[in-house]
Amino acid sequence: MGAGDYYDILGIPRNADDKEVKKAYRNLARKYHPDVCKEPGAEEKFKKINEAYSVLSDEQKKGQYDNMGHETYTNASKGSYTGGGQYGGGFSSDFSGFGDIFDFFGGGQRRSGPQPGADLLMRIQIRLEDAVSGIDREIEVMHTEPCATCSGSGSETKRLNTCSRCGGTGQMRQTANSAFGQFVRMTPCTQCGGKGKIPEKVCKTCRGSGHTRVKRKVSVHIPAGIDNGMRLRMEGYGEAGDYGAANGDLFIEVYVQTHDRFVRAGDNLETTIEISPAQAALGTSVEIETIDKRHIDLKVPAGIQYNSALKLGGEGVKRRGHPGDLLVRVKIVTPKSLSSEQKDLYQKLADLEGSSNVGGGFFSGIMGKKKGKH
Ligand SMILES: [Zn+2]
Ligand SMILES: [Zn+2]
Repeated sequence: MGAGDYYDILGIPRNADDKEVKKAYRNLARKYHPDVCKEPGAEEKFKKINEAYSVLSDEQKKGQYDNMGHETYTNASKGSYTGGGQYGGGFSSDFSGFGDIFDFFGGGQRRSGPQPGADLLMRIQIRLEDAVSGIDREIEVMHTEPCATCSGSGSETKRLNTCSRCGGTGQMRQTANSAFGQFVRMTPCTQCGGKGKIPEKVCKTCRGSGHTRVKRKVSVHIPAGIDNGMRLRMEGYGEAGDYGAANGDLFIEVYVQTHDRFVRAGDNLETTIEISPAQAALGTSVEIETIDKRHIDLKVPAGIQYNSALKLGGEGVKRRGHPGDLLVRVKIVTPKSLSSEQKDLYQKLADLEGSSNVGGGFFSGIMGKKKGKH
């Protein structure tokens, strides 16, 4: 929250309407456009203004943003933007291994000096109920942390000496001769592993690495409205960095399981009920069990048509401010076998439909009579 908040960036109140959002954006974008504004940091500001506008001008994104709050929303969306091939893929698409951790940013170029820790990606599955209402989950993460014995320094004395082989640069020059001349290649120093420093007295617990591998329980708040493939970021819960460098982050990618009675469509849920032709013609009342297992009486009006949707307001995804609805689709099921009494009654009905204009155009159409006899 605070200064980075999208509403603050645009300088508008939280209840600002579409027009106010647009107006504020236009004014600010004009003021901070990098072609116009030569103030230092204008470009950064311009980007932020655009970012804020792209969310607050989109009704669905705005709803998510209002609901999740700035922190969670930007982390979740940052996460989802990092998806795809940018990191060279390499995670298997098989996420049946529930809660597997993948080394996320593995490889890449090495900078010299203390290295920040790698980010981790963890995939979890949640039930549709949990995506609808939000849930706090405790997950177990296996990651490295700074060694407690040496505070992550790798040295029992917590003192490090400059590596004598590379003189502290962490790199070594390798020269090779070829037909084209001499090549100089920089490789990580073999004595200090590229760190440039050597523990004064190697820590026995971590054998000088400064890290220990531990399993940690982490509580994660999964906000209502989260959708398949979205990522939550837990800052600092990735792998430990080198001594003096930041830890990586843990990304939690959420998969929502299918439900046997409910299907999600945006913030709405859909379910199906079955009624008989007589119930459809006369109207009826059906008890609906909501996704959170409450029971609601739904009135089905007389003359309901096949596949019509009846709406139960606010029984969809529980977003703060804008909860979705539950749409109940009505299937009219023709009985496959009839008792003799039912058969008599259907026969009477059929006779009635055939001999008069009951039902009007629809039935006369089916019976092959001319329309518009009324
Ligand atoms: Zn070295
Ligand atoms: Zn240690």
